[in-house]
Amino acid sequence: MDFDLLQKNLRDTMPGIRLSRREPMSRHTSFRIGGEAALMAFPRTSGELAAICAAARRCGISPLIFGNGTNLLVADGPLDILAVKTFDGLSEIRLSGENGIYASSGALLSKIAVFAQKNGLAGLEFAHGIPGTLGGAISMNAGAYGGEMKDVVVMTEYLDENLLRKTASGGEHAFEYRHSAFSNGGRIILGSLLKLSKGEPEKIRERMNELSEKRKASQPLDIPSAGSTFKRPKGGYAAALIDEAGLKGYAIGGAQVSEKHAGFVVNRGGATCEDVLRLIEHIKSTVFEKSGILLETEIKYIGG
Ligand SMILES: Cc1cc2nc3c(=O)[nH]c(=O)nc-3n(C[C@H](O)[C@H](O)[C@H](O)COP(=O)(O)OP(=O)(O)OC[C@H]3O[C@@H](n4cnc5c(N)ncnc54)[C@H](O)[C@@H]3O)c2cc1C
Repeated sequence: MDFDLLQKNLRDTMPGIRLSRREPMSRHTSFRIGGEAALMAFPRTSGELAAICAAARRCGISPLIFGNGTNLLVADGPLDILAVKTFDGLSEIRLSGENGIYASSGALLSKIAVFAQKNGLAGLEFAHGIPGTLGGAISMNAGAYGGEMKDVVVMTEYLDENLLRKTASGGEHAFEYRHSAFSNGGRIILGSLLKLSKGEPEKIRERMNELSEKRKASQPLDIPSAGSTFKRPKGGYAAALIDEAGLKGYAIGGAQVSEKHAGFVVNRGGATCEDVLRLIEHIKSTVFEKSGILLETEIKYIGG
């Protein structure tokens, strides 16, 4: 793959575009893990994002679009990829219609939630503590404390597999538990319209603070991780199954099952992707032996 040619094309057609060669993905993932991406691009508008993807396609390169890297486990070695980061270039957040907010794909959920609170719009309190972007959250149907993106997203603008601009409405998002019509790659989220309801700013803030305290009390927020490593299995909780299997605190290399929340694998210092993958396999096989339940990973693995 000719990344030199792609870089030249992007510089010629988009003067001022921020590009970085051999950029360590570890700088862009909450796990602080990941080898060098051959090229990383930081678009500032959805037009630039589309143009980058079109130029990549002409060079036979299919890009990895990512937001804040908080759900990613990235391979250690050099990666033959173009990584396109939407955070924080595509960060527009504005009011739209009655009780609506339009946000671009790279806008942080925490910022959208605070914007909603200040404008007296309720319904996004659950998302305030999720450290990702709108794009990552739509792709994953992110959720917490009884709420999920499915409850608030009414329309999404995206580029389809042929890079044509399209919109998805309502059921076309195909939201399921930690899955959506955008989960399998190919479609690129540009922005979404969220429908909220009127609320008292003070009450909304109180609810956000309450959830934030709950999170701080139960999750290892001071240690690098990618959040919950596994999806919730039918009829149980991954964290409880891992704890019951005696794995709390179990470590391989720098990767460890969090002492605070067994559902999180954390990077306790110097963890490699290989450490995390080996630990995940160990957790899966031990939990399966003890409970007969096969855990499925929630975090997305990006290979070379
Ligand atoms: C401490 C911590 C707590 C967390 N708590 C929660 C929680 O309570 N609930 C929860 O659901 N998750 C949680 N997460 C996981 C994560 O924050 C969410 O999944 C979040 O929505 C991911 O957003 P992101 O921008 O970081 O996505 P990334 O990690 O950058 O990407 C995730 C996926 O989305 C895709 N993607 C990103 N942007 C786009 C786009 N514009 N178009 C198409 N595809 C795109 C990527 O290709 C990738 O497949 C937590 C993570 C951490 C580290």
